[in-house]
Amino acid sequence: MSKKHKLVYHGHRELDEPGACMWCGMPTTESAYVVNPGGSPVLRCCCQDHYERARAYIERDNKVRNAFYIVIGLLVAANLLMIGLEVHAWWTYLPLIGICLSVAVWPQVFTHYSLYLKLGLVRTRRIIRIIALALAALGVAASVSLT
Ligand SMILES: [Zn+2]
Repeated sequence: MSKKHKLVYHGHRELDEPGACMWCGMPTTESAYVVNPGGSPVLRCCCQDHYERARAYIERDNKVRNAFYIVIGLLVAANLLMIGLEVHAWWTYLPLIGICLSVAVWPQVFTHYSLYLKLGLVRTRRIIRIIALALAALGVAASVSLT
């Protein structure tokens, strides 16, 4: 980030333009509920309620994220092993199903909160959950067909 950009932010010029609420995705010009003061892009919320939810979410996220990545990493490794060894058993898809279920439980696949801005956190997570559960269902169906 350039120095100039920061100065613009501190002049709150960026806040004058309407942006999406980080939580619900609705356009807002509210500048009282910025989640990341001084950060860029500005993550803001449309109301006190969404602001508190977003803050609580980020706090939880900071605690869970590392464990989440470790679990996903192990499952991805196991999944690659299955593919590499060309295992064709009923448990072949278990790591894949595990990845999908982990993502469904904690849909934190994007590393930057700004990537959630377009639709808002709530809707983005719902979409990720639906895709993850659909893939998990496919994995279960594939497992059943191998028994
Ligand atoms: Zn909102």
